[in-house]
Amino acid sequence: MSITKYIFVTGGVSSSLGKGIIAASLAKLLQARGYRVTIQKLDPYINVDPGTLNPYEHGECYVTDDGAETDLDLGHYERFLNVPTSQSNNVTTGRIYQSVIEKERRGEFLGKTVQVIPHITNEIKERIQILGKSGDYDIVITEIGGTVGDIESLPYIESVRQLKWELGDDNALVIHLTLVPYLSAAGELKTKPTQHSVKTLMESGIRADILVCRTEHELSDDLKKKLALFCNVRQEAVIQSIDASTIYDVPNMMLDEGLDKVTLAKLNLEDTTVPDLTHWNSFLTRHKNPKGKVKIGLIGKYVELQDSYKSILESFIHAGAENEVKVKVKPIHSEYLNAANIADKMKGLDAILVAPGFGERGIEGKIEAVKYAREHKLPFLGICLGMQMAVIEYARNILNLKDANSVEMDPETSDPVINLMEDQKAITNMGGTMRLGAWDCQLTEGSIIAGVYGTKEIKERHRHRFEYNNAYRDQLESAGMKTTGINLETDLVEIIELENHPWFVGVQYHPEYKSTVANPHPLFVNFVAAAYSFSKSKSK
Ligand code: GLN
Repeated sequence: MSITKYIFVTGGVSSSLGKGIIAASLAKLLQARGYRVTIQKLDPYINVDPGTLNPYEHGECYVTDDGAETDLDLGHYERFLNVPTSQSNNVTTGRIYQSVIEKERRGEFLGKTVQVIPHITNEIKERIQILGKSGDYDIVITEIGGTVGDIESLPYIESVRQLKWELGDDNALVIHLTLVPYLSAAGELKTKPTQHSVKTLMESGIRADILVCRTEHELSDDLKKKLALFCNVRQEAVIQSIDASTIYDVPNMMLDEGLDKVTLAKLNLEDTTVPDLTHWNSFLTRHKNPKGKVKIGLIGKYVELQDSYKSILESFIHAGAENEVKVKVKPIHSEYLNAANIADKMKGLDAILVAPGFGERGIEGKIEAVKYAREHKLPFLGICLGMQMAVIEYARNILNLKDANSVEMDPETSDPVINLMEDQKAITNMGGTMRLGAWDCQLTEGSIIAGVYGTKEIKERHRHRFEYNNAYRDQLESAGMKTTGINLETDLVEIIELENHPWFVGVQYHPEYKSTVANPHPLFVNFVAAAYSFSKSKSK
């Protein structure tokens, strides 16, 4: 296929309708028909990237191989498609303006007045087409963050209008995701909000080609007909998206509704194959028919908000299916954990995961949890800050260095077992300056981790400023905390394990960013298996 086709996904009526999941599901169906597809997210906020956002604001920050700090929707794209994304897959208004202003400073606009139209819209259009022009994709799906009608979305909507006009109707289409609410007092589904939101889109010169309607109840044919007539779309282009018990059901639901078929027809693409979802469906079967269950404690400080640990929760779903066990994740707030309540809070758990994080709040609770897992031989996985807490706990309680800490939490500590990385010391700008993206790591033969991966060389994604302090390595190693993964270039300790413990692993990197339906992450798969063995040994 020579020309790349573009699909734009906009949202109306309400936020949180799941544009990312609809985009990922459509992409999955097109991929399963043999098309090469990628998805891009355009975010209308002014932050240059979500790296500086607190998880309470915008959920987890997802990191790509090339070190981009991105929106969590990119995690869904990778988990569904099993194709890595990159910086080009996530663009914010901040990045667009930064780039235009830098060009202005370089004099690239030759004395012109720099304006939203055409300069900002041109920059947006260029960013949308970067992926298409790479030649790697037949179809690029671009999800526009926010809701139509928002002031901040306007330049994006105008860019879509222009691009649709420039590319032609066969090469670009707009899917509008809306809500069809059910009013229980009236006992009816209501179409008016959708009509209004389609009208708002129309005011910006865009006619939606396909409507995807989120609903809690089935849309009748009559209702679909009404929506089609008043929203100016064909009836087969009114797609129902009913609430699903798992996001992984959505591709099949969209298949049943024919979303892929109308898309191909509108884009004048061949519709000769049927999507091959064999692997996907076998994952779903395993996910829905577990033969056992495990309960894993997730110790973190953002546990109130599901989205804060999105990739970890999804990795558990993949790993659970792989092991054919149901993983029940029990969120445990680290801020309220202490020596007095730890035994009670850990009761009934088959394993614990100590989560990544930043700053001092809740770290003493995390250290208590590590101690409990170590002493009770409970399978333990520490990710990033979780690994650093494991080192601190060992230093304090086994090496007897009572003041041991990370300089992130206590810059004056007399035993900085976790130190600021050398190349971070001169950094004053906080955005995009951590150790980010994929780095090599060499595993120690015979270690748990080498068994987990079945190889000696791995590459995993990172996001941190602090590191294991090699000055304490000999002491920690002789006392039983083994270093089993190293970045050879920098001698940075990436992985620690404990002797005399069935499964205690801390990793400086984030395995959760690389787990997908097609490729469940081996570390999570193995961790869940260890939890399952633990649960079985308890019941003996
Ligand atoms: N705050 C720690 C650091 O910067 C850990 C970061 C994380 O958990 N992602 O090193």
